[in-house]
Amino acid sequence: MTVKVRFAPSPTGKLHVGNIRTALVNWLFAKGQDGVFVLRIDDTDLERSTKENEDGIRQDLSWLGMTWDETFKQSEKFDRYTAAAEELKAKGLLYPCYETAEELERRKKIALSRGKPPVYDRAALELTDAQRKALEAEGRKPHWRFKLSGGRAEWLDLVRGQQSIDTSSVSDPVLIREDGSFLYTMPSVVDDIDAKITHVIRGEDHVTNSGAQIEIFLALGANPPEMAHMPLLIGADGQGLSKRLGSLSAQELRNSGFEPLAILSLLAKLGTSDPVEARDSLQQLAMEFSFTKMGRAPARFDENELNGLNAHIVHAMDFAIVQPRLAKLAYGDKATPEFWDAIRKNLVTVPDAALWLTIVYGGGLTGPDLSDEDKAFIGEAAKVFPADDVTLDTWKTWTDAVKTKTGRKGKQLFMPLRLVLTDQEHGPEMDRMLMLIGADKARDRLAQAAP
Ligand code: GLU
Repeated sequence: MTVKVRFAPSPTGKLHVGNIRTALVNWLFAKGQDGVFVLRIDDTDLERSTKENEDGIRQDLSWLGMTWDETFKQSEKFDRYTAAAEELKAKGLLYPCYETAEELERRKKIALSRGKPPVYDRAALELTDAQRKALEAEGRKPHWRFKLSGGRAEWLDLVRGQQSIDTSSVSDPVLIREDGSFLYTMPSVVDDIDAKITHVIRGEDHVTNSGAQIEIFLALGANPPEMAHMPLLIGADGQGLSKRLGSLSAQELRNSGFEPLAILSLLAKLGTSDPVEARDSLQQLAMEFSFTKMGRAPARFDENELNGLNAHIVHAMDFAIVQPRLAKLAYGDKATPEFWDAIRKNLVTVPDAALWLTIVYGGGLTGPDLSDEDKAFIGEAAKVFPADDVTLDTWKTWTDAVKTKTGRKGKQLFMPLRLVLTDQEHGPEMDRMLMLIGADKARDRLAQAAP
């Protein structure tokens, strides 16, 4: 049996951290066993779905390297859903209901006040033909509910173990709205049957849906696929994923300079027994993936971990790889391999290089606010600045001379020099920086700081 999974985003918004993880786990599980990854666009909600979001989702997945083997949109399949609905109606499993939202709300409140679960009471099943006609004559249009068995829907979840949902404790799900449009529940089942999906992998917010969907699979004469429901992501503080993190989109991550493999390495390992470490390919992550490693506790998404992984990947990047990206930043076309080697350990993301490009290749810096004493010190240091070209040894020879001349040492000696030459308190080693900045610019900066 070839494994076949689907990632089924709704194009009603951007791809964000939570659904990147769902896509990734599907991808890793499938590719780890030469399976097929299907991208299904869940656009049954025609009003809220947009082409822009759909294109964005495809771009984001491509940027992340999660290519798909097959793809389709639910909006292309309404005929199939209509046929399936007819089949369910013929079997007496899909029945028309005429309650308004307000009526349902009122009944829910009454049930709750009597200490009963707020489950739909199936009053519509009792309607006679004449009553239905009368309601329709009033101008009411039916919505359609699937008749759950009232028994237990059971499955062996790949993450959660044995699951058993008492379908008498949930309302018969509405499959078709009053306006004739389909809700997500049935189309998803029809598509999973048609596409011969072997495993449905999604967030644990879908567990209850799965109970109903398993019954719909069976009602349509199909065997339900295997299922895996992953624990949801939470923030580093143990709270739910904050609004900001929860909505952190692939686009924002890309614009902030995060590397696909930093994001993927983190999301692949979160909530698993594997350590979180950077990997250099999706294939490697796929080889290491297994549901048996996935815990049931919520997975903590920590931005610091993402920064750490990203920095690790950036620090190991070859100049040849990074050069075209540096070239897009101001002065980036001037960057040399020596520049990259000097600064890369100081970066978290590639765009962080902008600062060092300006320092090395740019014109005047704002200049630090120095005390009069430090200004005088810089004046002395400028006087012993070597006349010849700077080399890697210049920093040492020069600072030795400054030390002898001024009697300063340690931080007092080095910090004002670093500040004047780079405008930063921290940064790459100064012998390399001085060489990159060059003698002329260094003299200018010293002169500007101690007029
Ligand atoms: N469009 C659904 C969602 O994004 C898909 C759920 C599923 O995988 O079945 O929640």
